[in-house]
Amino acid sequence: MPELPEVEHVKRGIEPLVLNQRIEEVEFSNAVINGKEIGKDTIIKQIDLPMFKLYSEGYKITRVERRSKYILFHIETNDDQRVLVSHLGMSGGFFVVDTLDDIIVPNYKKHWHVNFKLSNGKQLIYSDIRRFGEIKNVADLSAHSSFSDMAPEPFDENAFAHFKHQLETKTYHKKPIKQVILDHKVIAGCGNIYACEALFNAKINPERSADSLNDDEQKRVFDEVVKVLRLGIENGGTSISSYRHADGKTGQMQNYLQVYKKKVCPVCGGPIQTKVIAGRNTHYCPQCQK
Ligand SMILES: [Zn+2]
Repeated sequence: MPELPEVEHVKRGIEPLVLNQRIEEVEFSNAVINGKEIGKDTIIKQIDLPMFKLYSEGYKITRVERRSKYILFHIETNDDQRVLVSHLGMSGGFFVVDTLDDIIVPNYKKHWHVNFKLSNGKQLIYSDIRRFGEIKNVADLSAHSSFSDMAPEPFDENAFAHFKHQLETKTYHKKPIKQVILDHKVIAGCGNIYACEALFNAKINPERSADSLNDDEQKRVFDEVVKVLRLGIENGGTSISSYRHADGKTGQMQNYLQVYKKKVCPVCGGPIQTKVIAGRNTHYCPQCQK
């Protein structure tokens, strides 16, 4: 599943090619069209296809933004502003190409779902093999519940204060710290791989309850989440899943992982344990993480 660093990488890759371009036409795949006909919101959510076209064709892309694991396309005409809110799901990806044939990963070429034809002659294409991803077209983000209670971006100045406050609330204080840092209301965009890595680097056992962490430990966990997300961005994310970048290349972050899906601890040489915490596989070293 693409996590924050992968999504940031996708955003950086497409932004220069789509910014300030007008969407001339939007085309949908048969899977999207047929899905709508049988009442299934395949990829395009909460809006019917003619309305989606009405609220995007002729609009100019004025800003591309990543928020947590979402990519937001701010679009406008002279008298209207909308936001395309996209989530890559398990295996989605955006490509900017001259023609569909330029998508070099065969599965992504085959499983394209939305094609935005742009005024510079490029096509912004959303592909998704497993179809868990989504694109919404909303008047503003306040209508979108995921954004109203989302934590600040982890790199924002106020993100630690928010994190610390959340840890001490009734909702979270008795929950395992691993589960808590996966919650986007506490930290935005820290997925499973990065949560395992951050707790390993912070030397904190993932099963500890949030309220058992002292001030120093809270700070360590937060700082390590930020560090590992930054490292992920620098290295283009991981390519552990079927995920591929817009250019078909894979990220290199998997070469920097310490504990995720490892057998042996790189620090003490002891065995890495795997445990399911809140439904997610968690890899950790019981020797090093207390
Ligand atoms: Zn160890």
